[in-house]
Amino acid sequence: MKIIYQCELCGGVFHDENICHEHEKMHMAPDPGAKITPLFRFETSHYPDGLEVTMPDGSSHLYEYHHIIDLPLKPAYKEKAPEGAE
Ligand SMILES: [Zn+2]
Repeated sequence: MKIIYQCELCGGVFHDENICHEHEKMHMAPDPGAKITPLFRFETSHYPDGLEVTMPDGSSHLYEYHHIIDLPLKPAYKEKAPEGAE
C-alpha cells in the first residue's frame, strides 16, 4: 500500500501530508473585492483582453483573455425575427 497526498489546487502529488499542506498554502487567489483593472482590449473585443489583478500580498499580475467559460444569462442583443417566422 502506498499513501500519497494530492494538492487540491494544482494536482501536485506528495508523499508527506505536512509538505502537501505547506504546498497548498503557497497557492494564492485574489480576495473577494480584489482590485481588477482592464489594461487593454483588441479592436473587435467585447470584453477586456488583459486584466491587472492585485493579489493579497500586494503583487500585481497580468491575466490575458483565453476563451468564454459560460455565456451571459441574457444575450446583449437579440435579433428580431422576420415577419411570419416562428
Ligand atoms: Zn498545488
